[in-house]
Amino acid sequence: MELFGLRDRVVFVTGGNRGIGAAIVEVLKRLGAKVAYTYRSAPGPEAVLTLNADVTDPASMEEAVNRIESEVGPIFGVVLNAGITKDNLFPNISVEDWYAVIDTNLNGIYNTLRPIVPLLYARESGSLVFISSVVGEQGNIGQANYAASKSAVIGLAKTLGLEGARYGVRSNVVAPGFTSTDMVKAIPEKVQERILQKIPLRRFAEPEEIAWSVAFLMSPTMAGYITGDVLSVNGGQYT
Ligand code: NDP
Repeated sequence: MELFGLRDRVVFVTGGNRGIGAAIVEVLKRLGAKVAYTYRSAPGPEAVLTLNADVTDPASMEEAVNRIESEVGPIFGVVLNAGITKDNLFPNISVEDWYAVIDTNLNGIYNTLRPIVPLLYARESGSLVFISSVVGEQGNIGQANYAASKSAVIGLAKTLGLEGARYGVRSNVVAPGFTSTDMVKAIPEKVQERILQKIPLRRFAEPEEIAWSVAFLMSPTMAGYITGDVLSVNGGQYT
């Protein structure tokens, strides 16, 4: 499928081993991209290069980027997908859980992009897609740490959209609604039912539905004039 203009482009996905990340890897592969991804626990789908790296460790991310550049080729696209939740009402969030969520979901993105952005600017070509969340747009009871990290991602992506424009580097956000992955399976069933009632389409998203939106924003042909934008993919829950 040449429509997307991603054939043979090198794309790096963080947390590509399972859930939404794995679906993104599969869709980008179908579009002919050379996909490299990192995982923390265990590898997932086949890809040109899979690397064990923790987004909270700057040295590990720098090494991953160096390996992709030398073994696969110059990175064009980056999908900032790795993320965690540690839910609780604000008064009950432990110091550890607050820092863990911010460290993975926000600092992890900084650690990933720090070695890449200068390369993209120098080559005057690139496309960043950040995975935020409807929770970052709307807030959510029991997810203050997660919501804060996911709102921060939007501010970062918009700023890189402004800064990167003169270097031909676009920066956009996909904000998924609740999606059928391990992250949502971890939510108690009663709470899942309450969430479903607030979703006009009356179902959770499938990971592939998020992945196609990522591919759209990544694509220089489909989204070449879109930067600093947020695509909300949430079944009508929040617009
Ligand atoms: P999963 O829990 O299924 O997968 C999380 C992914 O992040 C895994 O690949 C995991 O790797 C990786 N990861 C977590 N911590 C680290 C780390 N320190 N270093 C490297 N990789 C790490 O989540 P989803 O697929 O559901 O979520 C993917 C993204 O989408 C996240 O950013 C999430 O916040 C966001 N999102 C999810 C929604 C949902 O409803 N599912 C809704 C909105 C946004 P490993 O397997 O090795 O631990």
